[in-house]
Amino acid sequence: MALVKQKGTLVGVQYTDYKDIDINSFDAVVVGSGFAGAVCAREFAERGDMRVLVIEKRAHIGGNMYDELDEAGILVHRYGPHIFHTNDGRVFSYLRRFAGWIGYQHNVLADWYGTYLPVPFNKNSMEIAFGKERAAHLTEKLIDVFGDGRKVTINELRAQDDPELREIADFVYKNVFLYYTQKQWGLTPEEVDPSVTARVPVFISRDNRYFQDQYQGMPVRGYTDLFEQMLDYEGIEVCLSTDATSVFELEFEDDSEDAQLSAIKLHDVSFIGPIVYTGPLDELFLARFGRLPYRSLDFVYETYDEEYKLPCGTVNYTVTEDYTRVTEFKHMTGQKAPNTTIMKEYSRAYTDPDAQIPYYAIINDENNAHYERYRRLTESLPNFHPLGRLAEYRYYNMDKIVGLALDLSHGILDERASAQEAAEE
Ligand code: FAD
Ligand code: UDP
Repeated sequence: MALVKQKGTLVGVQYTDYKDIDINSFDAVVVGSGFAGAVCAREFAERGDMRVLVIEKRAHIGGNMYDELDEAGILVHRYGPHIFHTNDGRVFSYLRRFAGWIGYQHNVLADWYGTYLPVPFNKNSMEIAFGKERAAHLTEKLIDVFGDGRKVTINELRAQDDPELREIADFVYKNVFLYYTQKQWGLTPEEVDPSVTARVPVFISRDNRYFQDQYQGMPVRGYTDLFEQMLDYEGIEVCLSTDATSVFELEFEDDSEDAQLSAIKLHDVSFIGPIVYTGPLDELFLARFGRLPYRSLDFVYETYDEEYKLPCGTVNYTVTEDYTRVTEFKHMTGQKAPNTTIMKEYSRAYTDPDAQIPYYAIINDENNAHYERYRRLTESLPNFHPLGRLAEYRYYNMDKIVGLALDLSHGILDERASAQEAAEE
C-alpha cells in the first residue's frame, strides 16, 4: 500500500484488493482506468476531495494507452499505436500537469506495391501516383473546385461529375481506401459510416503530416507513467484484475427485459455516490439484447538488430498484405537504441469477449439503435454515468475523451456542491 506523505502526494498509485475494500469508505466508483476513468477519478479526488474506488479488469492501469518496455528494451504500445493530437488547449494543458511532452508529428506512408505514397493523399502523393506533369494539371482542377489547402473526403470526391476529378477519386478509392477498409472493417468504404473514412481526407496541400492539430506529441516517459502520475493521489484506490460485471450486483425496476436499473450494489451495499462506467454497456447487462458489434485487433511484434526498419512512424498497407498497418515505435517515442521493434495490426471480427478486446465500435444506424436500447436501461439511475469509447459506443480520440471526462466530473462536482449548499441552508 502507498504511503501518504502529505495531502495529494502519495508514493505511487495505491493498489488494493477488491475483497479487502470497505465500500462505505468511498464517495465515488470509477470502472476502467483509461483516460475516461482516470481523469474522472483524479478530478473527483483532487477537486472534490472525494475517496474514489477505481475498478480495472486488466492487470494494469492506462486502458488502451498502456505502454511498456518489451524484451528488447523498446517502449511499445500494447493496444495499438497512440499519438496524441488536439486543438483543445484546455485538454492539452490539463495533460501537461502529468507528463512532459515531446513534440512529435506523425507521418504515414501507404505502401503502394512497394512505392510509398504520403497519407492523407495530398499534392505529393499525386505526383508519385500520376507523374509531375499530370499531377500539376489534376491538382489545379482540385484547387479550382475545392480551393487550395482544403480537405476533401473520399465520398465528396467520388460524388463529382467531372471526369478528371473522378479519375483522382477512383485512384484514391482503389489504392488507399478500398482494401484497407475491407481489412479493417470487413466492409467496403461505402458500407462504413461516412465519418470513418472522413478521418483521412484527400488534402490539397504539401503537408505530409497525418494530423494538422495545434498540439501534437508523446509523453516523454510514456503513457503508463502519465497514468501513474494521474492516479497517484490521496483518496484514489485502484483494484486491478477486477471485472465490474462480476462485482456489481444490478437491481432492476421489475423482471421485464426492458426493465431499467434501479440500483447497483457493491459488497451488498447500494452505492449512492457517482458511478462512472467506461466499459462496454452490453457486457454490463450480460448481453441481454445480443452483443454489440465491434472490431478487434491482433498485434504481431518483430524486433530487429537495426536502428530503424521503417521510414516513418506508420506504414499503411493499402493494396497488399493481410495486416492493415505497421508501426515502428521509436519514431514516435524518440527512443534511441541500436535495435528496434515494429508491430503489425490484423483486424478481426469481435466474437469472443473472453479472449478478445473490443477496440472499435462499428458505427451505423442499426448498431447505434442497438446501443441505445442498452443505454436506456441506465437512464433511471441518476448516479450512473456511462463515459468513453466503449460505454458510449463511439469512435473517440484520446483528446475528446479527456475533454468529456473533465466536463462530466466537473458537472457532477458542481451538482454535489449545490446539493451540499442546499442541505446546509
Ligand atoms: P479505454 O482506453 O479502452 O479504457 C477502458 C478501460 O476500462 C480499460 O482499461 C478496460 O480494461 C476497462 N474495462 C472495460 N470493461 C471493464 C469492466 N467490466 N470492469 C473493469 N474494467 C473494465 N486516439 C488518439 O487520440 N490517437 C491515436 O493515435 C489513437 N490510436 C488508437 C489506436 C487503436 C488501435 C485504437 C483501438 C484506438 C486508438 N485511439 C487513438 C483511441 C483511444 O484508444 C481512445 O480514445 C481511448 O482509449 C479512450 O479511452 P477510454 O477510457 O474511453 O477507453
Ligand atoms: N483508411 C483507409 N486507408 C488508409 C487510412 C485510413 O482506408 O490508408 C480508412 C479506414 O477505413 C480507416 C479509416 O480510414 O478505418 C480511419 O483511419 P484512421 O487512421 O483514422 O484509423 P485509426 O487510427 O483510428 O485506426
